Amino acid sequence: MERQYDLIIIGAGPAGMSASIYASRAGLKTAMLEMGAPGGKLTKTAEIANWPGIKGTDGAQLASDMFEHSTAFGSEYLYGNVIQVSDEGTYKSILCEDGACYQAKAVIVASGTQERMLQIPGEEENIGRGVSYCAVCDGAFFKNQEVVVIGGGNSALEEAAYLSQFAAKVHIVIRRDVFRADQIIQDSIQSNDKIHVIPKHIPLRILDDGMRVSGILLQNIDTKEETTIACHGIFPYIGQDPATSFLRNLDVLNEQGYMIVNENCETKIKGIYGAGDVIHKQLRQVVTATNDGAIAAQHAFHQIKGI
Ligand code: NAP
Repeated sequence: MERQYDLIIIGAGPAGMSASIYASRAGLKTAMLEMGAPGGKLTKTAEIANWPGIKGTDGAQLASDMFEHSTAFGSEYLYGNVIQVSDEGTYKSILCEDGACYQAKAVIVASGTQERMLQIPGEEENIGRGVSYCAVCDGAFFKNQEVVVIGGGNSALEEAAYLSQFAAKVHIVIRRDVFRADQIIQDSIQSNDKIHVIPKHIPLRILDDGMRVSGILLQNIDTKEETTIACHGIFPYIGQDPATSFLRNLDVLNEQGYMIVNENCETKIKGIYGAGDVIHKQLRQVVTATNDGAIAAQHAFHQIKGI
């Protein structure tokens, strides 16, 4: 049986939760559909130091506060792994993997991004046996051990700094000789004795002893020389891909799979919006995600009410 709403928000990260606050306070019958815990990437982030008004907080706490706020004005929180969104004119249909189907006058897609995998031998079979994409979740398992972080962006460097609290040593492997991360976090890892940077190398293979990860084989980009680092933990942080497979039928994505939206966060299909990391944009931050959510919800409200 289909359930009807004014607005369905797909994803309960910062963008979705911000949209939920704006829409439900405006009086729209609103639901957030989420396939995991609320908070999105916040729940996997050790420290947030750029949320205005709070100099430093941990991601899980901010996620929890946002979630409480996002459901305080009547918005529902529903479990659902969305597999398709269809445009039926006045109504949009949202189909979930378990067969549940929802109808809404507007949809805000705030499904964020998924961690990119290295796609090298030894990676997939060692997930949970030393390969992890979440330092906050798994870092404490590597107390006094050596770990390797792959990537030179904000995520890699921030999570390497977090891992250095537990690990004996953290190697950061980057394929160029410069980082992509903000200068402030580069400075902090460079003054951290436990962190060792390995520039101009790419990972070739993850090694294991049949039970757990035992090392990683790297190759020097210039000389092609191969080196093995003995370690028990490997944390790839090499970027993200948008979680938009359920929109492929709608022609609202760019070549990389990010949603194309206008200044109202609306796609070319009336009533279908995108907000947060899932849209094509330059700056992916908690503040920009919440900004998008507010804009999308406000515009959806005007559209639904014919203002
Ligand atoms: P990112 O900024 O795209 O960085 C990805 C890193 O992985 C780069 O160093 C890249 O190297 C490397 N890489 C990519 N593919 C690789 C491969 N196959 N093998 C080895 N290395 C590879 O990704 P991110 O750190 O996940 O950040 C995503 C977005 O979220 C960014 O916009 C970022 O600013 C934002 N973010 C912000 C914060 C914050 O403000 N505190 C925190 C986390 C994330 P190259 O540089 O050589 O391409």
